[in-house]
Amino acid sequence: MAAVALAEERPDRMEEACGVFAVYATGQPVANLTYFGLYALQHRGQESAGIAVFNGAKIRLHKDMGLVSQVFDQDVLERMPGDLAIGHNRYSTTGSSRVCNAQPVVLMTRLGPFGLAHNGNLVNANELREALDHLAGEFTSTTDSELIAFALQEAVDGGLGWSAAIRQAAGRCRGAFSLAIGTPEGLFALRDGYGVRPLVFGHMGDKHQGQWVLSSETCGLDIIGASYDGDVGPGELIHFRAGEPVPERVRWIVEPAKLCVFEMIYFARPDSRFFGESLYSYRHRIGEMLARESAVEADIVIGVPDSGIPAAIGFSKGSGIPFADGLIKNRYVGRTFIQPTQAMREAGIRVKLNPLPDVLSGKRVIVIDDSIVRGTTSRKLVMALRDAGATEVHMRISSPPVTHPCFYGIDTDNQEQLIAARLTLDEIIVHLGVDSLAYLSQEGMLEAAHDHSSHFCTACFDGNYPIPMDDAIRSSKLMLEPSGLAATKP
Ligand code: SF4
Repeated sequence: MAAVALAEERPDRMEEACGVFAVYATGQPVANLTYFGLYALQHRGQESAGIAVFNGAKIRLHKDMGLVSQVFDQDVLERMPGDLAIGHNRYSTTGSSRVCNAQPVVLMTRLGPFGLAHNGNLVNANELREALDHLAGEFTSTTDSELIAFALQEAVDGGLGWSAAIRQAAGRCRGAFSLAIGTPEGLFALRDGYGVRPLVFGHMGDKHQGQWVLSSETCGLDIIGASYDGDVGPGELIHFRAGEPVPERVRWIVEPAKLCVFEMIYFARPDSRFFGESLYSYRHRIGEMLARESAVEADIVIGVPDSGIPAAIGFSKGSGIPFADGLIKNRYVGRTFIQPTQAMREAGIRVKLNPLPDVLSGKRVIVIDDSIVRGTTSRKLVMALRDAGATEVHMRISSPPVTHPCFYGIDTDNQEQLIAARLTLDEIIVHLGVDSLAYLSQEGMLEAAHDHSSHFCTACFDGNYPIPMDDAIRSSKLMLEPSGLAATKP
């Protein structure tokens, strides 16, 4: 019971990993631009924020706990002049939520300082920590990101130049890592061989000016008016030099591309573009697909804001059932929100979402959400819809059942806490109190990505982890394997 009570206090969501942003543009207010980039990527991490700025050979770092708008103000940004800035928003996946674990990580080498920002999670952090044990006295955090930085420092101090040192350090890492690294020789971007976490680049102004921008998502480029040039490819290292119109691109490792499919379904912002289109379009399409796969008679379709809305509109189009705004979200409830008391908790979901009785009363309602993790929030949501007068509640989920935890940079529960790993579909229906429940099929989810359907990690739906892990790491979260309460399919 204690474990369940604890689980109740954790957010009943897959939680994003981190946001990475960088600007290399001589003569531009790079700290201010990075502030805005991080602001656009705030959904990827709300625990801490930081910016490191190079001014000539010197680097200045400011980082703290909180949202970007809490950590920085105009005075702080004005004290950070320079031409290269690296920024980071953090949600903790390895290492606790403390200021020492905030990023970027800044270290000194024989070639000068560097700043590193990391999105992802290493699956060989213990092994790397042991290999770097002789440096343990210098560690100031408990993150895998700092281990990557120390591996880079060791490679540089061992005699390599920046590009070779970054490749050598990356070669010691296993897992998901999208990196922005600022050095005295320019800005480097690197993704792991599978490209699990996204990273894109673009430019400001005329391309010949060589003013470069890196961002976890294209929405970070949009906010500062930068043009999108392309993705940092899986297994690619790119070296940007200020004023040079063509960056140097190297494929440092070759693996099959495996972008996290949850970036498509829920993590990334709907206005960010992947594979040449906005995620709004993809999410709309999986909603249509869901309507084709699991039609049901009803009066209205509603979405759970914000992430369920595009799929709900798609479901409405696919089914011909009108879309309605049945739930209003309080947009200002963040992760640092003080937890309600038990009595208040019973009022539950309404802190964040409030149903509209005028819309719902007397109606058979189809409610679309992007995923079900533990099911605690969904259950409260169903009760709230019924309290608001819905006569039937049919839940449709725009992803397959989540049956496996993530090890690649997304904070998930252990497998035994994932409702679809423990219960059959009928048992989940009873548990949630819905009239019917259906998930999008894995085939439908992939088919909606058209030509890119083989380019995804889908491990949290099928247990096919693309990046090998030690048994100790696997067993830390895979409680039900190998006895295998297998994936519960719709
Ligand atoms: S396991 Fe799931 S959440 Fe983690 S990277 Fe793969 S698809 Fe994404």
